[in-house]
Amino acid sequence: MPEAPAPHHTRALRDAAGLAAAGLVPAAAVPGLEAVQARYSIAVTPAMARLIDPTDAADPIAAQYIPRAEELVTAPHELLDPTADEAFTPVPGVVHRYPDRALLKPLLACPVYCRFCFRREVVGPDGGLLTEAELDAALAWFERTPGVREAILTGGDPLMLSPRRLGAILARLAAIPHIEVLRIHTRVPVADPGRVTAALAAAMGTETALYLCLHANHAREFSSAAATALARLTQAGVVLLGQSVLLRGVNDSAHALEDLFRTMLRHRVKPYYLHQLDHAPGTARFEVPPEEGRALLRQLRHRVTGLAWPTYVQERPGGAGKVPLGPVWEVG
Ligand SMILES: *Cc1c(COP(=O)(O)O)cnc(C)c1O
Ligand code: SF4
Repeated sequence: MPEAPAPHHTRALRDAAGLAAAGLVPAAAVPGLEAVQARYSIAVTPAMARLIDPTDAADPIAAQYIPRAEELVTAPHELLDPTADEAFTPVPGVVHRYPDRALLKPLLACPVYCRFCFRREVVGPDGGLLTEAELDAALAWFERTPGVREAILTGGDPLMLSPRRLGAILARLAAIPHIEVLRIHTRVPVADPGRVTAALAAAMGTETALYLCLHANHAREFSSAAATALARLTQAGVVLLGQSVLLRGVNDSAHALEDLFRTMLRHRVKPYYLHQLDHAPGTARFEVPPEEGRALLRQLRHRVTGLAWPTYVQERPGGAGKVPLGPVWEVG
């Protein structure tokens, strides 16, 4: 029942008591969730809260954002730092793991905090914002590293920056002769579409090609407000890509994936990656085994336009990088 109930709040819900007051968790769950909120950030934007059907215990939007007490249970195979980014950090805020591209993480705040996030130990509203001096040093690193052709803004969520700050970062990167491509990874256009103002879109209207990689996991996240935000970005000349995480209880059926990818295409978002879940602490309830992921994609092949087909990838532990998981077909 997308967008039906009137919003009872205009700010993000950021704690267990707020979620209970909004009717999104039972009052009895509050003490358990207060222990979770002491360790992991919580945020559910009005745009996302509005999409949740509180009478549906299996709601795929709620599953992504509403905390659960079992998040404090770490399974033996879950890693504190699934990405091992630290080993690839030449200066604060930069991650350089592949020769031709590097990440710039200007901040660690997000519009929402996804319960399955692989950076859940570090993302949050407090801290993580690079100081002016650190940001300057990070941009100087890009300027003096000619092998890097692509600057990838991630975080946190770079679209949490003001249009002025984002515009200044993009302009400095775009002015570097060896930077050919800019990329931004974000959840804002679906999770908090009101942030995509004309000024923010204008900040992304760079002469250097800019690809925006939108994180969305369910077709219902594409509200009419999200559609407006995405249209604004395409009009600014931004190329839209989609990235999704394969998640138990959110999109673990051929139908849900087909609906998600077709919905992306209708909004001019080309599905780029479908991620296998990283083993971050307390995320075991979202796990879908790779064999099952491959079987789901097999069902979509031929039934759904090739434009809707993402590459199914897994982040290898210890910083070994992303690799495709298939499926593959025998030839001959
Ligand atoms: C995911 C990632 C990238 C981008 O990888 P692509 O396969 O080009 O999308 C770049 N650097 C790091 C450290 C990454 O984790
Ligand atoms: S928006 Fe991205 S970085 Fe932020 S909590 Fe969700 S998955 Fe993690």
